[in-house]
Amino acid sequence: MTWDLEVLYKETALWEEDFEKMSLLAEKFASYKGRLHESPAVLREAIEASDALERLSEKVYCYAHLKSDENTSINANRARVDRVKAKFAELAPMESWFDPEIMAIPEEKMNEFLASPELAFYRRSLEELLRERPHTLSEPEERLLGSLSDVLCSSSNTFEMLNDADLDFGKIKDENGRSSVLSHGTYRRFLESNDRETRKRAFTKLYRSYNKLRNTFASTLDGTVKRHVMGAKIRHYNSALEAALSGDNVPEAVYRNLIEAVHAKFDPFYDYMKLRRQMMGLDKLDMYDMYNLLLPGCRKEYSFEEAERLVKAALEPLGEEYGKVLSQAFSQRWIDVPARKGKRSGAYSSGCYDSYPYLLLNYDGTLNDVFTLAHELGHSMHSYYSNKHQEYHYADYEIFVAEVASTTNEILLFEYLFKNAKDADFRAFLLGHIADEIRGTIYRQTMFAEFELDMHEAAAKGIPLSADWLCERYGELNRLYYGSEVAPDELISLEWARIPHFYYNFYVYKYATGMSAALKLAKNLLEGDPAKREAYFGFLKAGDSKDVLDIMRDAGVDLSTPEPVCDALDYFADVVKRLRKELGK
Ligand SMILES: [Zn+2]
Repeated sequence: MTWDLEVLYKETALWEEDFEKMSLLAEKFASYKGRLHESPAVLREAIEASDALERLSEKVYCYAHLKSDENTSINANRARVDRVKAKFAELAPMESWFDPEIMAIPEEKMNEFLASPELAFYRRSLEELLRERPHTLSEPEERLLGSLSDVLCSSSNTFEMLNDADLDFGKIKDENGRSSVLSHGTYRRFLESNDRETRKRAFTKLYRSYNKLRNTFASTLDGTVKRHVMGAKIRHYNSALEAALSGDNVPEAVYRNLIEAVHAKFDPFYDYMKLRRQMMGLDKLDMYDMYNLLLPGCRKEYSFEEAERLVKAALEPLGEEYGKVLSQAFSQRWIDVPARKGKRSGAYSSGCYDSYPYLLLNYDGTLNDVFTLAHELGHSMHSYYSNKHQEYHYADYEIFVAEVASTTNEILLFEYLFKNAKDADFRAFLLGHIADEIRGTIYRQTMFAEFELDMHEAAAKGIPLSADWLCERYGELNRLYYGSEVAPDELISLEWARIPHFYYNFYVYKYATGMSAALKLAKNLLEGDPAKREAYFGFLKAGDSKDVLDIMRDAGVDLSTPEPVCDALDYFADVVKRLRKELGK
C-alpha cells in the first residue's frame, strides 16, 4: 500500500552522491559557453551536456519531493527539498546563457547547422527555440527585462499572499449546528453538503469577504493582465492571446473555436440545469446548488482491491499489453495508497525519466477515489509509454495534452461501471457524476477562458479593469452560461476574485480541449477497432516529439476544427438524456 522509492535510491548516501554530481555536470555544461557557433558537433555536445544535467537534476529532485510528501512533518525529508531548490538557484546562472547564445548564431549559419547530420535528432527542438527569434529582443533589452522579472510578478504574488495567507473567512454554522472554520479547503466541502442552508451560509460568507476587498483584488488582476498585454506588445505579438498560445504552437482559432462551439450548445447545459432543479425540488437553482450530490443514497464504499479490479476491467479496451503494464503499477509498488497523518493531501502522478511514474493517493473508498485512481493511472501510463519510447530529450509531454490520457481513463471507467450497474438509481448516480465532470471541465472552463479573453482585449484597448467592470462582465457571462433555470445570487459576480487560474495567462482552455479530445478517444477505444487503438498508443508514446496539435490529430482528434468540442457536448446532451430516462423524468 506504499510506494517503493528504494528502486530510485537504495540509500540516501547514493542520493547525496548524485546531489554532488550535479555541480560537476553544471560545470561541464558551462564549459561550452561562447563555443556554440563553432560547429554542429560542438552544439550537439553542448545540448547533450545540458540534457545530462537536467536529467540528473530531475532524478535528484524527484526523490527529494516524493520522500518529503510521504510525511511532511519529518524535517530531514523537507530539508532535502530545500537543499535541492537552493542548488537549482545556485546553478541557474550557469545555464541561462544557453538559449540566447543559440539564437545569436546567424541565420545562414544556423540553417547549415540544422541541415547537418550531427544535429538531425535535435532539429525539432532547435526549430522550436528559433520560432521565438522574431520575439526576442536585443541583449541589453533582454537583460533589462530579466532584471525586472521579479518586480513584474508582484501583482500576482500579492494576489497569492492576500488570497492564501491574509484573507480570513471566519466561521460558519455547519449542518450539525457546530461552528466551523470556513477556508478554501472547507468551502468545497460545504458546497457538497446536502443541507441547502449550510451551502448558502458558506457561499454568502465567502463572497462577502471578497466583496470587502473587491478593489484590491481588481487591482492585482488588472496588474497581471496588463503585464501579459504589455509583454506581448514588447515582444511583437499581435495580442496577449497569440503570445500565450505560441509556446505550444497553437493557433488562436483553436481558442476561439472552443468558445464558439460552446455558445452553439448551451441547450443541453440548460436542460441539465432544469433536471437538476427538478431533482432538488426547487423553483430556481442558485449557484450554491451545483456541487451537492443528487442521489446521496447511492453512495457506496470501495476497498482498494475492489478499486484495482474495477479500474483494470474498465481499461481492458486498451488491450493486453497495457493491462500488463497496469498490473506492474500495483505489483512494483508505484502507488502510495492510504491517507496518513503528515502525508501530503490530494492526489498526483509524478516521477522522472529514471523512475517509476509514481502515484500519490489519499484513498478513502469513495466513488470519487476510484475515479481518481483511474485518472492518475492515466497520467502515469502516459509517462511510462512516453519515457519508454522517446529519448530523454523528447520524453516530457506538454500540458496541452497532459490531461487527455487521464480523462480518457475516467470516461472508460464511467462507461464500464454504467454498463455493469444493476439498478436505475445507481446508473443515474453515475450519470450525474460524469455530467458534473463535463459541466465543470468543458462549460465552466470555457466560461473562464472567455472571461480571460474579454479581460485581455479590454486591457489592450486601455480600459482599466475596475471591480465594477469585472463584476459586470463576469455576472453577464455567468447568466449566459447558466441560463434561466438558475437565479444566481448577485454575489457570484465576484467569483473572478478568487480564481488563481486567471493569473496563469490563458491556461484553462486546455482543460476543455483536453476533455473534448478524451471523449473522442474513449469513444474510439470502445469501438474496438485495432487501428484506432494503435493511433491512441501513438499519442501515449509521443512525448514531446511532435507539435501538440499533430499528436492529437494523429491520435484521431483534429482540434484545429470545432468538431471535437461539438461532439463532446453532444455526448453531454446524451448523458443528460440518459439521466432523464433512468430517473423516469
Ligand atoms: Zn490530472
